[in-house]
Amino acid sequence: MVDPRLSDTRPVTALARRGLMFILSSPSGAGKTTIARKLLQSDPGVALSVSATTRAIRPGEVDGRDYHFVDKPTFDRMADDHEFLEWAHVFGHSYGTPKAQIWAGLKAGTDFLFDIDWQGTQQLSQRAREDVVPVFILPPSIDELRRRLMARGTDDMKVIEARMDRARAEISHWSDYDYVVVNDDIDRCFEKVRRILDAERMRRERQTGLVNFVRQLTGEGSPT
Ligand code: 5GP
Repeated sequence: MVDPRLSDTRPVTALARRGLMFILSSPSGAGKTTIARKLLQSDPGVALSVSATTRAIRPGEVDGRDYHFVDKPTFDRMADDHEFLEWAHVFGHSYGTPKAQIWAGLKAGTDFLFDIDWQGTQQLSQRAREDVVPVFILPPSIDELRRRLMARGTDDMKVIEARMDRARAEISHWSDYDYVVVNDDIDRCFEKVRRILDAERMRRERQTGLVNFVRQLTGEGSPT
Protein backbone atom coordinates (compact mmCIF):
# COMPACT_ATOMS: atom_id res chain seq x y z
CA MET A 1 0.00 0.00 0.00
CA VAL A 2 1.51 3.31 -1.11
CA ASP A 3 1.48 6.05 1.48
CA PRO A 4 -1.14 8.54 0.15
CA ARG A 5 1.07 11.38 1.36
CA LEU A 6 3.69 10.32 -1.19
CA SER A 7 1.39 9.38 -4.05
CA ASP A 8 -0.65 12.59 -4.09
CA THR A 9 1.28 15.04 -6.25
CA ARG A 10 -1.47 17.58 -6.81
CA PRO A 11 -0.15 21.12 -6.36
CA VAL A 12 -1.29 22.75 -3.16
CA THR A 13 -2.71 25.64 -5.21
CA ALA A 14 -5.39 23.27 -6.55
CA LEU A 15 -7.06 23.04 -3.14
CA ALA A 16 -10.78 23.60 -3.41
CA ARG A 17 -11.83 27.03 -2.24
CA ARG A 18 -15.03 29.00 -2.06
CA GLY A 19 -14.86 32.22 -4.09
CA LEU A 20 -15.16 35.64 -2.51
CA MET A 21 -16.91 38.89 -3.33
CA PHE A 22 -14.21 41.51 -3.62
CA ILE A 23 -15.82 44.94 -3.48
CA LEU A 24 -14.04 48.09 -4.57
CA SER A 25 -15.74 51.38 -3.75
CA SER A 26 -14.45 54.93 -3.96
CA PRO A 27 -15.53 58.38 -4.99
CA SER A 28 -15.11 58.87 -8.73
CA GLY A 29 -11.59 60.13 -9.44
CA ALA A 30 -9.88 58.04 -6.74
CA GLY A 31 -8.57 55.46 -9.21
CA LYS A 32 -10.94 52.57 -8.60
CA THR A 33 -11.59 51.88 -12.28
CA THR A 34 -7.87 51.66 -13.09
CA ILE A 35 -7.25 49.33 -10.17
CA ALA A 36 -10.21 47.14 -11.11
CA ARG A 37 -8.95 46.90 -14.69
CA LYS A 38 -5.41 45.99 -13.57
CA LEU A 39 -6.77 43.31 -11.25
CA LEU A 40 -8.90 41.74 -13.97
CA GLN A 41 -6.02 41.80 -16.47
CA SER A 42 -3.45 40.34 -14.11
CA ASP A 43 -5.50 37.68 -12.34
CA PRO A 44 -7.43 35.05 -14.32
CA GLY A 45 -9.09 33.87 -11.09
CA VAL A 46 -11.07 37.11 -10.84
CA ALA A 47 -14.26 37.76 -12.83
CA LEU A 48 -16.06 41.09 -13.00
CA SER A 49 -19.59 41.15 -11.69
CA VAL A 50 -21.26 42.97 -14.59
CA SER A 51 -24.01 45.21 -13.25
CA ALA A 52 -27.20 46.24 -14.95
CA THR A 53 -27.78 49.98 -15.28
CA THR A 54 -30.29 52.38 -16.73
CA ARG A 55 -27.67 55.03 -17.50
CA ALA A 56 -26.65 55.67 -21.11
CA ILE A 57 -23.69 53.82 -22.58
CA ARG A 58 -20.49 55.94 -22.75
CA PRO A 59 -18.00 56.01 -25.62
CA GLY A 60 -15.67 53.01 -25.36
CA GLU A 61 -18.05 50.97 -23.22
CA VAL A 62 -19.36 47.62 -24.44
CA ASP A 63 -22.82 46.29 -23.57
CA GLY A 64 -22.45 43.03 -21.61
CA ARG A 65 -18.78 43.69 -20.77
CA ASP A 66 -18.89 46.95 -18.79
CA TYR A 67 -22.58 46.89 -17.93
CA HIS A 68 -25.81 45.36 -19.08
CA PHE A 69 -27.48 48.51 -20.37
CA VAL A 70 -31.22 48.18 -19.84
CA ASP A 71 -34.19 50.54 -19.92
CA LYS A 72 -36.05 51.52 -16.77
CA PRO A 73 -39.04 49.16 -17.25
CA THR A 74 -36.63 46.22 -17.72
CA PHE A 75 -34.62 47.20 -14.63
CA ASP A 76 -37.78 47.60 -12.54
CA ARG A 77 -39.08 44.24 -13.73
CA MET A 78 -35.76 42.59 -12.77
CA ALA A 79 -35.94 44.23 -9.33
CA ASP A 80 -39.56 43.10 -8.86
CA ASP A 81 -38.60 39.55 -9.87
CA HIS A 82 -35.75 39.55 -7.28
CA GLU A 83 -33.13 39.10 -9.98
CA PHE A 84 -30.67 41.39 -8.16
CA LEU A 85 -28.38 40.58 -5.25
CA GLU A 86 -28.50 44.30 -4.49
CA TRP A 87 -29.56 47.42 -6.30
CA ALA A 88 -29.52 51.16 -5.69
CA HIS A 89 -30.14 54.56 -7.19
CA VAL A 90 -26.81 56.25 -7.87
CA PHE A 91 -26.56 59.74 -9.36
CA GLY A 92 -30.10 59.59 -10.75
CA HIS A 93 -29.81 56.16 -12.38
CA SER A 94 -30.52 52.62 -11.24
CA TYR A 95 -27.69 50.11 -10.82
CA GLY A 96 -27.96 46.49 -9.75
CA THR A 97 -25.98 43.26 -9.43
CA PRO A 98 -27.72 40.38 -11.26
CA LYS A 99 -27.79 37.23 -9.14
CA ALA A 100 -27.34 34.86 -12.09
CA GLN A 101 -23.94 33.17 -12.07
CA ILE A 102 -22.67 34.74 -8.85
CA TRP A 103 -23.70 32.02 -6.40
CA ALA A 104 -22.70 29.19 -8.76
CA GLY A 105 -19.40 30.95 -9.53
CA LEU A 106 -18.57 31.42 -5.85
CA LYS A 107 -19.23 27.77 -5.16
CA ALA A 108 -16.93 26.82 -8.02
CA GLY A 109 -14.16 28.99 -6.56
CA THR A 110 -14.42 32.07 -8.78
CA ASP A 111 -13.66 35.38 -7.10
CA PHE A 112 -15.89 38.23 -8.22
CA LEU A 113 -14.89 41.85 -8.40
CA PHE A 114 -17.67 44.31 -7.64
CA ASP A 115 -17.39 47.95 -8.61
CA ILE A 116 -20.36 49.17 -6.60
CA ASP A 117 -21.19 52.02 -4.25
CA TRP A 118 -21.67 52.05 -0.46
CA GLN A 119 -25.36 51.20 -0.72
CA GLY A 120 -24.65 48.03 -2.68
CA THR A 121 -21.82 47.16 -0.28
CA GLN A 122 -24.15 47.42 2.71
CA GLN A 123 -26.73 45.19 1.03
CA LEU A 124 -24.19 42.53 0.01
CA SER A 125 -22.62 42.59 3.48
CA GLN A 126 -26.05 41.95 5.00
CA ARG A 127 -26.74 39.07 2.63
CA ALA A 128 -23.42 37.26 2.59
CA ARG A 129 -21.03 38.75 5.15
CA GLU A 130 -18.65 35.78 5.10
CA ASP A 131 -18.16 36.02 1.32
CA VAL A 132 -17.71 39.79 1.17
CA VAL A 133 -14.36 41.60 1.25
CA PRO A 134 -15.12 45.33 1.13
CA VAL A 135 -12.27 47.66 0.14
CA PHE A 136 -12.50 51.45 -0.01
CA ILE A 137 -10.07 53.53 -2.07
CA LEU A 138 -9.43 57.07 -0.83
CA PRO A 139 -7.80 59.90 -2.79
CA PRO A 140 -4.62 61.33 -1.19
CA SER A 141 -6.27 64.74 -0.67
CA ILE A 142 -9.41 66.60 -1.61
CA ASP A 143 -7.37 68.99 -3.80
CA GLU A 144 -5.88 66.07 -5.69
CA LEU A 145 -9.37 64.62 -6.20
CA ARG A 146 -10.56 67.96 -7.63
CA ARG A 147 -7.50 68.09 -9.87
CA ARG A 148 -8.18 64.57 -11.18
CA LEU A 149 -11.84 65.34 -11.82
CA MET A 150 -10.92 68.57 -13.65
CA ALA A 151 -8.26 66.79 -15.72
CA ARG A 152 -10.90 64.40 -17.03
CA GLY A 153 -12.45 66.70 -19.54
CA THR A 154 -14.42 69.71 -20.45
CA ASP A 155 -16.85 69.93 -17.55
CA ASP A 156 -17.55 73.38 -16.19
CA MET A 157 -16.93 74.28 -12.54
CA LYS A 158 -20.56 73.70 -11.58
CA VAL A 159 -20.37 70.09 -12.78
CA ILE A 160 -17.01 69.63 -11.03
CA GLU A 161 -18.36 70.98 -7.74
CA ALA A 162 -21.42 68.70 -8.00
CA ARG A 163 -19.03 65.75 -8.46
CA MET A 164 -17.00 66.93 -5.47
CA ASP A 165 -20.16 66.96 -3.33
CA ARG A 166 -20.94 63.42 -4.43
CA ALA A 167 -17.36 62.39 -3.71
CA ARG A 168 -17.57 63.77 -0.16
CA ALA A 169 -20.86 61.91 0.34
CA GLU A 170 -19.32 58.62 -0.86
CA ILE A 171 -16.22 59.14 1.32
CA SER A 172 -18.44 59.59 4.38
CA HIS A 173 -19.15 55.82 4.23
CA TRP A 174 -15.50 54.76 4.52
CA SER A 175 -16.03 53.20 7.93
CA ASP A 176 -18.37 50.52 6.51
CA TYR A 177 -15.33 48.91 4.85
CA ASP A 178 -12.90 46.30 6.24
CA TYR A 179 -9.99 47.71 4.22
CA VAL A 180 -9.18 51.32 3.33
CA VAL A 181 -6.34 52.12 0.93
CA VAL A 182 -5.12 55.62 0.07
CA ASN A 183 -4.28 55.96 -3.60
CA ASP A 184 -1.27 58.27 -3.59
CA ASP A 185 0.42 56.21 -6.29
CA ILE A 186 -1.55 53.94 -8.59
CA ASP A 187 1.02 51.13 -8.75
CA ARG A 188 1.55 51.08 -4.98
CA CYS A 189 -2.19 51.19 -4.39
CA PHE A 190 -2.77 48.33 -6.83
CA GLU A 191 -0.10 46.26 -5.10
CA LYS A 192 -1.79 46.79 -1.73
CA VAL A 193 -5.20 45.84 -3.13
CA ARG A 194 -3.71 42.71 -4.69
CA ARG A 195 -2.18 41.72 -1.37
CA ILE A 196 -5.53 42.08 0.37
CA LEU A 197 -7.05 39.71 -2.20
CA ASP A 198 -4.20 37.21 -1.80
CA ALA A 199 -4.52 37.19 1.98
CA GLU A 200 -8.31 36.86 1.92
CA ARG A 201 -8.02 33.88 -0.41
CA MET A 202 -6.02 32.08 2.24
CA ARG A 203 -8.59 32.48 5.00
CA ARG A 204 -9.07 29.08 6.52
CA GLU A 205 -12.86 29.03 6.24
CA ARG A 206 -12.72 29.74 2.48
CA GLN A 207 -10.37 26.86 1.78
CA THR A 208 -12.94 24.09 1.65
CA GLY A 209 -10.34 21.57 0.47
CA LEU A 210 -8.16 22.01 3.56
CA VAL A 211 -9.78 19.30 5.67
CA ASN A 212 -9.00 16.56 3.17
CA PHE A 213 -5.59 17.98 2.39
CA VAL A 214 -4.54 18.08 6.01
CA ARG A 215 -5.94 14.58 6.46
CA GLN A 216 -3.61 13.44 3.68
CA LEU A 217 -0.69 15.29 5.23
CA THR A 218 -1.16 13.73 8.60
CA GLY A 219 -2.32 10.35 7.36
CA GLU A 220 -5.39 10.64 9.56
CA GLY A 221 -8.16 8.30 8.41
CA SER A 222 -5.93 6.36 5.98
CA PRO A 223 -5.39 2.63 6.38
CA THR A 224 -2.40 1.72 8.49
P1 5GP B 1 -20.65 54.83 -13.38
O1 5GP B 1 -21.98 55.26 -13.94
O2 5GP B 1 -19.68 55.98 -13.32
O3 5GP B 1 -20.09 53.64 -14.11
O4 5GP B 1 -20.89 54.35 -11.90
C1 5GP B 1 -21.44 55.22 -10.96
C2 5GP B 1 -21.43 54.60 -9.58
O5 5GP B 1 -22.32 53.48 -9.54
C3 5GP B 1 -20.07 54.05 -9.17
O6 5GP B 1 -19.81 54.50 -7.84
C4 5GP B 1 -20.23 52.56 -9.19
O7 5GP B 1 -19.41 51.93 -8.23
C5 5GP B 1 -21.71 52.42 -8.86
N1 5GP B 1 -22.26 51.15 -9.32
C6 5GP B 1 -22.01 50.50 -10.49
N2 5GP B 1 -22.69 49.35 -10.57
C7 5GP B 1 -23.39 49.23 -9.40
C8 5GP B 1 -24.27 48.22 -8.87
O8 5GP B 1 -24.55 47.20 -9.47
N3 5GP B 1 -24.78 48.48 -7.65
C9 5GP B 1 -24.49 49.59 -6.93
N4 5GP B 1 -25.03 49.72 -5.72
N5 5GP B 1 -23.65 50.56 -7.39
C10 5GP B 1 -23.11 50.38 -8.61
